[in-house]
Amino acid sequence: MNSEVAHPSVAQGEIKTSPEAIQKVNLLGMSRSEMEKFFEDMGEKKFRAGQVMKWIHQFFVTDFAEMTNISGKLREKLEKICEIKAPEVVHRNYSKDGTRKWVFRVGDGEGSLVETVLIPAEDKTGERKTLCISSQVGCALDCSFCSTGKQGFQRDLTPAEIIGQLWMANFSYMEEVPVAERERSVTNVVMMGMGEPLLNYDAVLSSMSIMLDDFAYGMSKRRVTLSTSGVVPKIDQLAKDIDVALAISLHAPNDELRNELVPINKKYPLEQLIAACQRYITKDGNESARKHVTIEYVMLDGVNDKPEHAQQLLKLLKNLPSKINLIPFNPFPHAPYGRSSRNRIIAFQKTLSDAGFVCTIRQTRGDDIDAACGQLVGQVADRTRRAAQWKKKIAEKNEILRSEG
Ligand code: SF4
Repeated sequence: MNSEVAHPSVAQGEIKTSPEAIQKVNLLGMSRSEMEKFFEDMGEKKFRAGQVMKWIHQFFVTDFAEMTNISGKLREKLEKICEIKAPEVVHRNYSKDGTRKWVFRVGDGEGSLVETVLIPAEDKTGERKTLCISSQVGCALDCSFCSTGKQGFQRDLTPAEIIGQLWMANFSYMEEVPVAERERSVTNVVMMGMGEPLLNYDAVLSSMSIMLDDFAYGMSKRRVTLSTSGVVPKIDQLAKDIDVALAISLHAPNDELRNELVPINKKYPLEQLIAACQRYITKDGNESARKHVTIEYVMLDGVNDKPEHAQQLLKLLKNLPSKINLIPFNPFPHAPYGRSSRNRIIAFQKTLSDAGFVCTIRQTRGDDIDAACGQLVGQVADRTRRAAQWKKKIAEKNEILRSEG
């Protein structure tokens, strides 16, 4: 349920707004079942939910007056108690290579900002536009190579704030287009921006159901991917609740190294994580999005990119249908790692490809607008003392090295 605002009291066609219930209900983040219930509670037919969802998510209309297949009386009623409100865009930047980036304000605090990046690419099905969506403001998991982790955790995003990122990305292509000619542009979504999506489970699940809904974005389930650092119990829950593609931020082929790079590994070590991935895979024919898992592996110079790491990875994944995506690291200020050399990345890829894995190297895009993966926080203000502590730790380490050397 969209719990971001208290609903005004709605009973059998009559709107009762109590003095304290002044905040309007934001319809943007409501799934179809929630919106059907909302209309039924108003004494309206539930098919109205599908009509309104189409206006919002397919024609990008935020003014009820433009919803011409809905009676004037109902439009007036909706106007009084509802709104359709995407998060406020405080910064937008469109790269020469087609990459687009938005910074959204999602609260009053100085650091209440999240980022969304859209990356275009060509594939055999035509032009692809992949949107990387954030699920939390900051992140509590503190992966050592991730700039978001250095910001600490502020709060979960609501469904309206999550789906609002997709709405805005589509709308950015439609602003000048007449309502009747508007169509959706984003073809793929990855829940891979700021935050760990499985730690904001209900809001992410509800948002993904809107992405898949034919009355909203109608996206193919194979084109909606949730990326997790490995919250094992929630992977099992996800398998029961929805059919979307799964990606794992793996980044290390053994527990010792992964404990350091992705600390949640101490709670859910590799054996448990790989077993959860195997359970997630279905044998339900080609229709399922769950035929394989995508393994994300950031290439850190001299840390996880050696030939023995490639061999360990082969062993780890030998019984898991998977595709591997190698990500050249994008250093951020005070990052304790560097990017692996091109030759090192290609050699790593060759080892995996020769063993029969589909293994790709992610192209870095949008460098001119600071939109590459791992730089999502960009200029976002530091909301906790974690970044300061991190810088202090690096300075101390450098001091020790200087005095030893
Ligand atoms: S990599 Fe993902 S899970 Fe890890 S700190 Fe960054 S945002 Fe959080």
